[in-house]
Amino acid sequence: MLETFERYPLTFGPTPIEKLDRLSAHLGGAVELYAKREDCNSGLAFGGNKIRKLEYIVPDALASNTDTLVTIGGVQSNHTRQVAAVAAKLGMKCRLVQESWVPFEDAVYDRVGNILMSRVMGAEIELVDEGFDIGIRESWERALEDVKARGGKPYAIPAGASVHKYGGLGFVGFAEELRAQEAELGFKFDYIIVCTVTGSTHAGMLVGFAKDGRADRVIGIDASGTLDQTRAQVMEIARNTADLVGLGRDITDDDLVLIPDYAYPAYGVPSAETNEAIRLAARTEGMMTDPVYEGKSMQGLIDLVRKDYFPAGSKVLYAHLGGVPAINAYSYVYRNG
Ligand SMILES: *Cc1c(COP(=O)(O)O)cnc(C)c1O
Repeated sequence: MLETFERYPLTFGPTPIEKLDRLSAHLGGAVELYAKREDCNSGLAFGGNKIRKLEYIVPDALASNTDTLVTIGGVQSNHTRQVAAVAAKLGMKCRLVQESWVPFEDAVYDRVGNILMSRVMGAEIELVDEGFDIGIRESWERALEDVKARGGKPYAIPAGASVHKYGGLGFVGFAEELRAQEAELGFKFDYIIVCTVTGSTHAGMLVGFAKDGRADRVIGIDASGTLDQTRAQVMEIARNTADLVGLGRDITDDDLVLIPDYAYPAYGVPSAETNEAIRLAARTEGMMTDPVYEGKSMQGLIDLVRKDYFPAGSKVLYAHLGGVPAINAYSYVYRNG
C-alpha cells in the first residue's frame, strides 16, 4: 500500500517479535502473548513509535527546503525527544514547545529522561504552562512564527506526528511488516494491543489491517483520558490515510475498538494498577514499560486476559511503542521498585 510514498530510513529494519512465555504462564497460560518491539526500533535516542511515523514525514521536510523541525508535546514527551534526535541526524535545527500536560510534581520532572536527552541533542526548548490537549495548539503556532521572525525556515510537525498528511503511513507499514513476519512464523495474530493518545499509530494500523479484514482486531487502550476527542482524531486520521493510500473502502466506526478503562486517574499519571502492570512485565520478562503510555496498555492487556476477553488459544500481540525514558521522571513512585 505504500509503494508510491517516499520513506527516509531512520529505523534498523523490521522490529523483532518476542514471545512472552513467563507473562503468558503467569496469567494462566490460556492465551499466548507476544510483543513487537517498536521500543527497540532505532539507534536514534532510544527510538519508539514516532521514529516509524517520521520516516514518511522527513522526505516532505527535506523537499520543502526547511531548516528547523518545530513540534510540541508534554514536558516528558517521547515524541519531542524523537524529533530532536531526527533533527540532529539530518543536520537540522529543532524547536520544541513542551507544555505542562501532566499534573505531576517530581522535583526533577523537567530535568531528566526525555527532556534531558532533547537538551543534550541541541534542541531549543520552550516550557509553556498549558494543560493537556491532543489538538493543534496556539503555543506551537507561535513557535512557528517565532522561527520565521528570526530568519529560520520551520517545518511543522504536530503533537505525536499525528495530524499531519503523512502521519498515518508509518503504521500502515507496521501492518504490512507484520503480515510478512506472520508468513514466516506460519501463524497469524488474533489481536493486536496498542496504546492510543494522539491517534496516528492506531489509525495507521486500522488502515493497514483493514486490508486483510482485521481492523477490529486492533484493540486500542486509551491513555489520553479524553476519549471522545481521541476517538474523533483516530477516525479522522484513519479516513484521510485510507484515502491517501487508496485502501478502496471506508474506515467505519465499527472498525475502531478503543477501551477507556485504564486511562485513570489522568493522562501521564499512573494508577496503582498501572504500576502493578509495569512491575509484572518487568519481573516476568525483563521488559520495561512506562507510567504514561505502555504501562497503561500493559495494564489493559493483563486485565483483558484475566477477564477472558480473548478466547482460549488466542495469540495476542502487544505493540510495545517505546517511552521508557519517561520513567526517570517518576523516581519517587518507584523508589522501592
Ligand atoms: C506517542 C506514544 C504513544 C501513543 O501513540 P499515538 O500515535 O500518539 O496515539 C504510545 N506509546 C508511546 C511510548 C508513545 O510515545
